[in-house]
Amino acid sequence: METELKPVTNVPASVGVLALQGDVEEHLHALARAGAAPRLVKTAAELEAVDGLIVPGGESTTVIRLLDRFELAEPLVARVRAGMPFWGTCMGMIVAAHDVAQLDQATLDLIDITVRRNAFGRQIASEEADLVIPVLGERPFPGVFIRAPWVERAGPDVEVLATHRGYGVFVRQGNVIGTSFHPELSGDGRLHEYFIGMVQSARKAAAA
Ligand code: GLN
Repeated sequence: METELKPVTNVPASVGVLALQGDVEEHLHALARAGAAPRLVKTAAELEAVDGLIVPGGESTTVIRLLDRFELAEPLVARVRAGMPFWGTCMGMIVAAHDVAQLDQATLDLIDITVRRNAFGRQIASEEADLVIPVLGERPFPGVFIRAPWVERAGPDVEVLATHRGYGVFVRQGNVIGTSFHPELSGDGRLHEYFIGMVQSARKAAAA
């Protein structure tokens, strides 16, 4: 008897977390809780094997340097341009931006936004705030901000899906999303589920 081929979408989405620096563990746990198969990504071969990638929080200038040193920048940009879902949280959103306000900082230019680093100022460098995020439902989302950037400019193809203090803090352009805050530290799995949904749709489209 022939073995029946299972549709690819029954297999948990393989979602990578860039593990050069930053809060990797929390994302791995949140992904597993949300039903994905989490993978650490440190090499081009590991990047090749995932269906989507998260770049976590950390220090953006360090990670840009490490991406070059580990020869990951080029393959990463190529895969995202080819449609692989990408999510940058905090530092990850800075790395993905078109440019950084008032700083001559290298970025990967994956989404047409200008970000401002450490934008919320010293007094409120870290805070937790309830965010209204209609694409995640009515219940407010607990936004954990840690020396967070905000979105100072969003190009015409960018959807601003949440704001805080008047600035964009959750943005999407096609297969790329960015959040100023840290959903992996909030205990609320809805953003990881949203991203896994993007990964599943991309896999379905690729298999069709
Ligand atoms: N302030 C950091 C940067 O500019 C980002 C902070 C974070 O990711 N929590 O790189």
